[in-house]
Amino acid sequence: MQFLPVVTPTANGPRMDYVSTRGSAPVLDFAGATLAGLASDGGLYVPREWPKFSEGEIAAMAGLPYAELAARVMQPFVGVSLTPEKLRELTAQAYGRFAHAAVTPLKQLDQQHWLLELFHGPTLAFKDVALQLLGLLFEEFLARGGDPLTIVGATSGDTGSAAIDAVAGRAHIDIFMLHPKGRVSDVQRRQMTTVLSPNVHNLAVEGTFDDAQAVVKRMFNDPAMTGRFAIGAVNSINWARLMAQVVYYFAAALQLGAPRREVAFAVPTGNFGDVFAGYVAAQMGLPIHRLVVATNVNDILHRALTSGDYSAGTVTPTAAPSMDIQVSSNFERLLFDLGGRDGPALAAQMAGFESTKAMQLTNAQREGAAKLFSSARADADQMTQALRWAWEETGELLDPHTAIGLHAAREAGIDPHIPVVTLATAHPAKFRDAVERATGQRPILPARIGDLFEREERMVELPGGYDAVAEYVAAHAVPRG
Ligand SMILES: *Cc1c(COP(=O)(O)O)cnc(C)c1O
Repeated sequence: MQFLPVVTPTANGPRMDYVSTRGSAPVLDFAGATLAGLASDGGLYVPREWPKFSEGEIAAMAGLPYAELAARVMQPFVGVSLTPEKLRELTAQAYGRFAHAAVTPLKQLDQQHWLLELFHGPTLAFKDVALQLLGLLFEEFLARGGDPLTIVGATSGDTGSAAIDAVAGRAHIDIFMLHPKGRVSDVQRRQMTTVLSPNVHNLAVEGTFDDAQAVVKRMFNDPAMTGRFAIGAVNSINWARLMAQVVYYFAAALQLGAPRREVAFAVPTGNFGDVFAGYVAAQMGLPIHRLVVATNVNDILHRALTSGDYSAGTVTPTAAPSMDIQVSSNFERLLFDLGGRDGPALAAQMAGFESTKAMQLTNAQREGAAKLFSSARADADQMTQALRWAWEETGELLDPHTAIGLHAAREAGIDPHIPVVTLATAHPAKFRDAVERATGQRPILPARIGDLFEREERMVELPGGYDAVAEYVAAHAVPRG
């Protein structure tokens, strides 16, 4: 008989180790994995094992305020990097900034369908739920010493504003956020450029989002930059972001009767971060009946999950830009877990993908994924129909990403006795034109960002290409100790 170590969420719980999906980067603790972002072997950090809650422990979480629930669910991942008191203090601070008392309120649409509103944070996108906490975690870990952090990122809209809001004014951090000049919406640009804290650097760069992203990737691999500056990431390759997203699966399922009753979720998906958090919740013991991955016409994940074909095409721009991707970084975490956590084998599989832009899932990966995941794809007409259905039948205005999620939820053929929760990932006011085209209704900007168009803007315009950006960062970032 074999006794496996059990990780329990106790006050003095064990240290949680983080390993890379590609098997050769150093093992880190939670604080290390949070500050590192990408692993040095090109892989992504995951906990060495999934903490498990018993049915009784899950039942005891019902009715907790969101910030308390967050601390309970995350404590086993944090290990000894934060005391339980400190973690509770940080979750209270992060979620105290949300405009709804429930933080992520659940709304009923009809007999079977529910909407989990994740957009009540400061920048109206679900990314606030994770990034508000991540900003505080960075500040806490950096205050313990070490090098000041230079965050460099590229955004097509939502990540940039949520990340800037989360770190503005925080000690020991500078953030350099590149956006493609003239190619983000006015609301999205102003949400970034009207934050005037001296540690926030908005760079409007000539070219497309992919060009800006390529500049950032090159900087992470440029020894002249990484030697001088501790460069950090805020995109969803950062484990701490996914961890924070696990919480709202618990929050929603508990309200709908978990642990006694199963619940399904439909998730508008781009980089596979949000839906991977649902997979983690299931591994921890939450009774998730199914996770429905919703994609738009950029459907690499739908193809991978239905036929095992993970091959990247070219990106088609849509009304749901945060899902316009052809490579889903966090899918690697799922493939690692389903493939027996074999780092060297996954490193070889990913190297193949990186050189040919295509790969076949193994049988173990396909069969493992099929147990929990379904998928559906929505084209522009189907997105519009879902938006209209929600407005006409339930009186709810959805954003285009959420509408794609709802389309998938209604197409997934889930047993009518099982509640299906669609994650509402953005406030409709962030995508006013698309919503108005579909429904004839123009969503109103919530009061908390109502004066956005009167605020002063600040940004630096740079030519495309690597050198101008690298020079700017080098001249304005704080070097290592
Ligand atoms: C980022 C984003 C998504 C995609 O989430 P992933 O975690 O990348 O799958 C979906 N909808 C909206 C509105 C987003 O901002």
